[in-house]
Amino acid sequence: MTTTGYSIELEQMSKSYSKKTQVINKMNLSVVPGEFLVLLGPSGCGKSTTLRIIAGLEAPTGGKVLIDGKDSAQLSSTQRSIAMVFQDYALYPNMTVYQNLEYALRVHKVPKQIRQQRLAKILASLNLTNYKDRFPAQLSGGQKQRVALGRGMAKKSKIFLLDEPLSNIDVQLREKARDEIQRLHAENGQTIIYVTHDQQEAMALGDRIAVINDGKIQMIDTPANLYHNPANLFVAQFVGTPQINVFKVNYFNHQLIEENGTVVANLANYQAAGLVEDTDYLLGIRPENVAVSLKAANTDFPAEVESVVDYGRYQQVTLRAFDRLELKAVVSDWPVGTTRNVYVKLSRENLLLFDDQTHERLDANPEARFVLKGGQRRKVEA
Ligand code: ADP
Repeated sequence: MTTTGYSIELEQMSKSYSKKTQVINKMNLSVVPGEFLVLLGPSGCGKSTTLRIIAGLEAPTGGKVLIDGKDSAQLSSTQRSIAMVFQDYALYPNMTVYQNLEYALRVHKVPKQIRQQRLAKILASLNLTNYKDRFPAQLSGGQKQRVALGRGMAKKSKIFLLDEPLSNIDVQLREKARDEIQRLHAENGQTIIYVTHDQQEAMALGDRIAVINDGKIQMIDTPANLYHNPANLFVAQFVGTPQINVFKVNYFNHQLIEENGTVVANLANYQAAGLVEDTDYLLGIRPENVAVSLKAANTDFPAEVESVVDYGRYQQVTLRAFDRLELKAVVSDWPVGTTRNVYVKLSRENLLLFDDQTHERLDANPEARFVLKGGQRRKVEA
């Protein structure tokens, strides 16, 4: 890959629209040249605002944006070299699809032959060749969105910003469009910032993902680390489907005890990552780490099966323990149509514990987490 993208830095960047509403709160972010970074978070958390400020469409009310190490406020739009795909397409209504794609290239005096070659490739890759002479008003929402995406791709800028660019595109074409964006990234080495609220899309695309909530970056890391070593409860719950199971426990005498008094995990043989005796924690466990068995031997506690959804390759089982606690389990060999009474075991090594008040993960160092005493980290049936 030829890395040609610019670095982007946010230094203590803030944005408020009125005294009361602080949308972004002193955000620090460093995007390295050629990185594919995804901004992920729920609707209204400040993703689009961040992107628009990076694009120079809005000014921050505090802090700085640096592009290629230079204060972006001092740069012209040509110097910033940014292409952006907007959520609402923003196509030129009086230009055809082809003219929309071509416009920026004409402005930058790209020779006609190169324009034609580049655009033919992009139109084909986004299934738009047959629509190239239509006007935006003659296109469906998904087609317009593909034109907007194509227009951003055509520019070959140093920075490519995308705001929910695939939200209106059919599922099958969406995968193709995703592949195209990744191929383009590999080919051109642009720095990409991609905004989405869809965690699966974020996981599929990003080198790194910045999870945002309430105008703050909650965690910025690789998809695998967000999933396995979330920094706090928000990240743990936002990433992963079905969602992580979370419930309150008390740590007492090497055991984790559910509120009704049942021991749900015995940590006697494990290093207990700084747990304080007789303290409440929130226990998080991903559905695939909840083992379900029909036999009572070697288990933690009984539960009842509420429902089973069979996805073919795996089954999603909803369980109820102690008549009220709902737990989701993902298993691959569920004996369909069997008894409602089962036994549950939680995988010790994959337990996540969060501070009951701050919701920070107790020991965010993965190596220190529930390792068998005196042994290497390995799969064990305690
Ligand atoms: P996201 O992209 O994560 O959905 P936005 O960045 O669009 O979120 O919006 C973040 C917050 O800022 C929202 O609460 C939104 O209502 C508010 N906001 C965005 N633009 C404006 C504006 N021009 N004036 C006032 N409030 C705004």
